[in-house]
Amino acid sequence: NKPKPTYKRVLLKISGEALMGDQGYGLHPPTVERIAREVKAVRDLGVEICMVIGGGNIFRGLAGSAQGMERTTADYMGMLATVMNALAMQSALEGMGVFTRVISAIRMDEVAEPYIRRRAVRHLEKKRVIIFAAGTGNPYFTTDTAATLRANEMACEAIFKGTKVDGVYDKDPMKNTDAKRYSDITYDDVLVKNLKVMDASAIALARDNDLPIIVFSLDEPGGFRGILSGQGTYTIVH
Ligand code: UDP
Repeated sequence: NKPKPTYKRVLLKISGEALMGDQGYGLHPPTVERIAREVKAVRDLGVEICMVIGGGNIFRGLAGSAQGMERTTADYMGMLATVMNALAMQSALEGMGVFTRVISAIRMDEVAEPYIRRRAVRHLEKKRVIIFAAGTGNPYFTTDTAATLRANEMACEAIFKGTKVDGVYDKDPMKNTDAKRYSDITYDDVLVKNLKVMDASAIALARDNDLPIIVFSLDEPGGFRGILSGQGTYTIVH
């Protein structure tokens, strides 16, 4: 008696930093594997999953440009960082027997498929987990915007934003013991209150297309699957 998933097709967005474990930088393979297990548990419910992984554990364009690099070059480096993270996640998932495709917004045919929308949809229908790499392929964007863009293109029913905490709070719950979690909140409130859910352009793009964003904790074992089975704590932005 499998629990019934709430959605049939979702996009999971995680930051690059979610893959670095307790290290200050880079990839921590056991952590990548732990997250891959969470993804597999949801795939095993029959849910179609796309992923977008950030690159902040390796390189951020803004940080590079703050140190004097040309901004667009630094952004392309950030996009390349996301490709490394995508390949690490692919390796972990395939090691567990989950079929995957890495699809890159910047062509690099030896390592990843190019993005062709209809082909990507077909992968989902065949229950392959898609990992979208290289963000949108454009500088000045982020992987949050890439996640919202791809979720819309793939007709996902929701974006799942996996974080360290179990939802959106009125102030940083890591620093304030009296921080309150919203069970749901509107896109406009997130923007007006400047809550750190996703960047503003991603929130606006989700709002304009009625795409709910579910913020939940990736540190809770089985949490991702739990929410898709109608349980657990999270905040829904809608
Ligand atoms: N980036 C970009 N265009 C995109 C997506 C990402 O230029 O469409 C670059 C940008 O420099 C960004 C870096 O890639 O800083 C890493 O992505 P992001 O900061 O979103 O990663 P996260 O914070 O989620 O780990």
